[in-house]
Amino acid sequence: MSRRPHDGHTEWCGKDHRCGLGEHRSEEIVIDIAARARAVLVRVRTAAGREHAEVRVRVALASGEVAARRQLVGLLGDVRQAVTRAAITGR
Ligand SMILES: [Zn+2]
Repeated sequence: MSRRPHDGHTEWCGKDHRCGLGEHRSEEIVIDIAARARAVLVRVRTAAGREHAEVRVRVALASGEVAARRQLVGLLGDVRQAVTRAAITGR
């Protein structure tokens, strides 16, 4: 699989305003869960040639402070696990 087609972009590059300054960015891959949670993943190739995944997560928190903090603790644990697993797979 060629990473650089003739136009200079990567095969997966979104090729719009998001791609610029030597950085290629894919279209957003969105995980949407009934207005309660949303995750957006973008594949990025920097000008230096390094590639990485960028993930933004948005989760509705409970109105009660205790429940919200419980959610945050759970989310932090899950994110740490997901990031660690992805990093290990990349070695
Ligand atoms: Zn590009």
